[in-house]
Amino acid sequence: MKSMTISKLNTFCKDLFNYSRRLSSETQIGKTPLGAEYSIRIQSMTNTDTNDIKASVEQAIRMIESGAEYVRLTTQGKKEAENLKFIKAELLERGYETPLVADIHFNPVAATIAAQYVDKIRVNPGNFVDKRADLDGSEYSEEMYQEGLKKIRNKFIPLIAICKEHKTAIRIGTNHGSLSDRIMSRYGDTPRGMVEATLEFLRICKEERFNDVAISIKSSNTVMMVKTVRLLVSEMNKEDLYYPLHLGVTEAGEGEDGRIKSAVGTGALLNDGLGDTIRISLTEDPEIESPVGKKMVDYVLEKEGHCPIESPSYSQINLCDFYKRSTVEVDNIGGRKPAVVIADFSLERHFNSDFPEQVGYRMDAESLEWEKGDLAADFIYINGFDPSIRDFPKELGLIVDSVCWEDAFQYSVKVQPLFSAEVFLHDDLSSFKSDIHFINCSYSDLTEEFINKLQANSKAVLICQSNHQNAFAEQRAFVFKLIQFNCKTPVVFHRLFNENELEDLQLKSACDLGALFIDGLGNGICLNNTGNISREEVNATAFGILQAARVRTSKTEFISCPGCGRTLFKLQDVVSEVKKKFAHLSHLKIGVMGCIVNGPGEMGDVDYGYVGAGAGRVSLYKSQELIKKNILSEDAIEELIQIIKENGDWKDAK
Ligand code: SF4
Repeated sequence: MKSMTISKLNTFCKDLFNYSRRLSSETQIGKTPLGAEYSIRIQSMTNTDTNDIKASVEQAIRMIESGAEYVRLTTQGKKEAENLKFIKAELLERGYETPLVADIHFNPVAATIAAQYVDKIRVNPGNFVDKRADLDGSEYSEEMYQEGLKKIRNKFIPLIAICKEHKTAIRIGTNHGSLSDRIMSRYGDTPRGMVEATLEFLRICKEERFNDVAISIKSSNTVMMVKTVRLLVSEMNKEDLYYPLHLGVTEAGEGEDGRIKSAVGTGALLNDGLGDTIRISLTEDPEIESPVGKKMVDYVLEKEGHCPIESPSYSQINLCDFYKRSTVEVDNIGGRKPAVVIADFSLERHFNSDFPEQVGYRMDAESLEWEKGDLAADFIYINGFDPSIRDFPKELGLIVDSVCWEDAFQYSVKVQPLFSAEVFLHDDLSSFKSDIHFINCSYSDLTEEFINKLQANSKAVLICQSNHQNAFAEQRAFVFKLIQFNCKTPVVFHRLFNENELEDLQLKSACDLGALFIDGLGNGICLNNTGNISREEVNATAFGILQAARVRTSKTEFISCPGCGRTLFKLQDVVSEVKKKFAHLSHLKIGVMGCIVNGPGEMGDVDYGYVGAGAGRVSLYKSQELIKKNILSEDAIEELIQIIKENGDWKDAK
């Protein structure tokens, strides 16, 4: 294993350290082809009832005008499939030729109808033919397993024939949490299971010489989604399959959470050069999604043609696997400690005693004691200080440049020095009796001599900088080089942005830094921005990235689907109500899903779930277990509070 090169381990990506887009095959979707050298397409999905032709047409137009290059519509049954014909005709009549996609889950008959009218149909291998997993522990003999495969062929090959005849493309869209009973019995709900479920359909496409295929594997769990897509590409390469990829994080939610989570999952794959089309799923109006997707794609494509990054030569890391770099524990950083957040105030001209209040601490007016909020930074890095640092919160560490450390240390033992790479390499640091020696450095500083010195310093923590056009890849190379030399010094990733729009900062920082945490390479984050965005928002973005990459939970995680034609209630209003009531339960994941058909499976590993069960009706779940069925929606939130209380997971808001 040791002698295995990176390229043999990570065949999903041509070069882990130099951006280049995977060359996929070409798929015709109406007049907007996908894959090959075509641009990365942006798409979105309506949330209207497909039987409401007027509303669907109007919404589709708003989506197209905001940048959607494909428009997908829920197609539950025959009636919806038939209505696609009228929606398509009306759009053409009004001059919109954007391809339409029918979203089919369970209904092969609906698929065969829709395939005649729209440009692409989406089928879900988990439930298109096979029985949906009901976790009843069914066992499948080899014979039964093969029988299941035969049934798929019997239904899928005729559909391919219809698609060939009508020049309709097919997306094989696998979702985590909705695998079939047969696949689950053999592989469980794992990346391997999702990949195998997808490959079964792709192999049939190949045998049938049907090339107008796209693939997606989605999950609300960003790590699961990224690892699975990488594994799929590796496996497809082995079988000479190069179909284009559709990327997306399901149930990402709304607002800041939805953007950061989508950017972490989708961005990690785009950074690897994967992805021919993306959908950013937000629990917001669908026309909001495409501009967000476009920003993401544009940001990643800025990396094209960057100055080459020298690749570390060997590594044992397989980025298709779940991985966490092994590091030593230095005070509260590294080892098994959660990733830390460092707020960088070093560009502030003047020291200010209210810095802690800008990064999650609050002074209680009565007790005059500091209170630590859920998003309280672990350290602040300050340029200059005054004696008031002795009154800073006890939990808040301070970092100052090494030249001022001795003076600052007189006022607070929580002060840690930050050394330049130059000073670290050449000076004797033994007089610095602090708990941590922070070292500011970049990839070019990592000489053998530097790494040897690091290995001899048990207090060292690296602050990894990069101003490279592809900073993500340079920071990835930085950690790979440490691994190559078996150096276990913890690494905090620092990035400086210059953004004036919060959304831009969220997308760009989450895309790059989130990807590094998904790879298991980081022990902390230090985010700074010179544009016009408040310190509180920058700090919240740093915490949001760690949460979305699943390395540190600091607030309630809300997993909500974007809603579609199956949603029979005002999803956005319910999500906002649920957020109001449960935002203080930072130890929980709470799902809000639009429908009972796909919601329970797709809300993944939530602790509690609120799932639409029909008009005015809701079902409540504890994990995957149904607790209350079809209750009135007006009682649902109070009932959910009761369930959480009964299970001992409730705490009162402060
Ligand atoms: S969970 Fe149901 S309502 Fe929500 S997007 Fe998926 S299919 Fe639509």
